[in-house]
Amino acid sequence: MAKNIALKNGLIINGSGSPGYFGTVLIRDNKISILRGNQEYPKPDYEIDCTGKVITPGFIDLHSHSSLTIFGKPTHDPKVFQGVTTELVGIDGVSPVPFKTKTELERYIWLDSGFNDYPPEADWLKTVEYLNKIDNKVSVNIACMIGNGPLRIWGVGWNNIKATKNQIQNMRSVLRECMEEGAWGLSTGLDYPPGAYADTEELINLSKEAYKLDGFYHTHTRAKLITDKNILAPWDEAIEIGKKSGIPVHLTHYKQRDPGIGSYNDYLGLVENAREEGMDVTFDCYTYPYSGTTITILLPDWSKDGGPEALMNHLKSSISRKKMCQEINHNAFKENWLTNFKNKPNKILEGLSVSEIALFKDKDPCETLFDLLIDENLGISTVGLGNTPHSIPEFVKHPAGMIASDSLIFGDYPNPRTYGNFTKVISEFSRDDKILPIEDAIRKMTSFPAQRLGLSKKGLLLDGYDADIVVLNLAEVKAPATKNNPKLLSEGIEQVIVNGEFVIKDGVHTGNLPGKAIRRGINS
Ligand SMILES: [Zn+2]
Repeated sequence: MAKNIALKNGLIINGSGSPGYFGTVLIRDNKISILRGNQEYPKPDYEIDCTGKVITPGFIDLHSHSSLTIFGKPTHDPKVFQGVTTELVGIDGVSPVPFKTKTELERYIWLDSGFNDYPPEADWLKTVEYLNKIDNKVSVNIACMIGNGPLRIWGVGWNNIKATKNQIQNMRSVLRECMEEGAWGLSTGLDYPPGAYADTEELINLSKEAYKLDGFYHTHTRAKLITDKNILAPWDEAIEIGKKSGIPVHLTHYKQRDPGIGSYNDYLGLVENAREEGMDVTFDCYTYPYSGTTITILLPDWSKDGGPEALMNHLKSSISRKKMCQEINHNAFKENWLTNFKNKPNKILEGLSVSEIALFKDKDPCETLFDLLIDENLGISTVGLGNTPHSIPEFVKHPAGMIASDSLIFGDYPNPRTYGNFTKVISEFSRDDKILPIEDAIRKMTSFPAQRLGLSKKGLLLDGYDADIVVLNLAEVKAPATKNNPKLLSEGIEQVIVNGEFVIKDGVHTGNLPGKAIRRGINS
């Protein structure tokens, strides 16, 4: 039961980017009211003295791979200890909905099991059914995008073929239905089949539909478009989709990919140019230099043509293995480490690279990887150096940029950003290195993502807004997670309130599950 709470005498940084001021935040029936200074108020059920503490809106993460994992671990500790109160799932073109049959849903979960853990039960098909499973079952609020992967499975199937006009119409109507049930727009992950089989024209068409309903386009762009002449070609495609459909474009996990190739100014310039032309283009970035994804991303697109069974067959075929080995980027074998092994004998391999495992097993690296993928039924995740470390602050402080985690919440050696993405912004980028004022840092994690999504009652501490709140001790905030010790919870986030209920109280998780699905146009 939500109680009346008073957060007394704190420095209120309200999420707008304006300087903080002293006062008390009152919470009643999941709504807040603000009392500036030392005004009197009726006695609440709980009163927290916030003297010397900072009170902010709860953080909103626009890129989380928790749509399935969260059902198995609903208290969502790695994220709530960072102050996250709302997450956007269904990103990277990989959404938990919509599916025509349970079999299709299960096949999709299988193909992407290096991204997102198996839920205890996958018993939904429609967006409305998925969202209904969230309310009061998890610790954070969840909003959902619709990935073009499931849309394509619905409209075209699992194969690498061009969509017909009718199939595109079909996908558009399904997307519309999903958005009418509460989804927020279209996402793509153009390195992940079967969504990656969509061409630009298909994506413009889908975007036109999402735009009609005021949705936005959230995109992990198509890496294979990169050429020596144009390192920005994947993002040019995203801008073209925005221009031709009218839809606002959000470039997710935007970063300077490769050290020594181009400059961060090229990447940021692309966004600035589009904005100068009048387009609504924004981006999010993560704050660690490591990327993280399913290891199957290394395998060529043709190996996934037809779905997970086809991929398993290729992994078992000596002819396909030879061909795949020729096409794989072998650098990743040395630089990236693996995680999320489920089979007990493989547990000792957690955190090792394919090259290290190959040495250990005295086997060829390709053979090692293919055997492990068969053994683990595809569900292996990988982490490795993913961007140019010195460029990260430039993305973090850019006015069109917000913060998102791209967290994958499983395995013994996950990406440390899963545990420290947001707290690192506060402790390192803002407090210690002073690359951006704390008010700006908070805005990039609260009202800015709320504005991108279109949330009208979240992301700010203003009278009448939803009671998703963080109280932090600025001097103590810390993101101790590192590459070698990635599962250390963030520190210094003392109180986290979601929908008017404590999720963290005095630094301890309460076990409460007050999270709600945030449905576009229905309860937002
Ligand atoms: Zn991605």
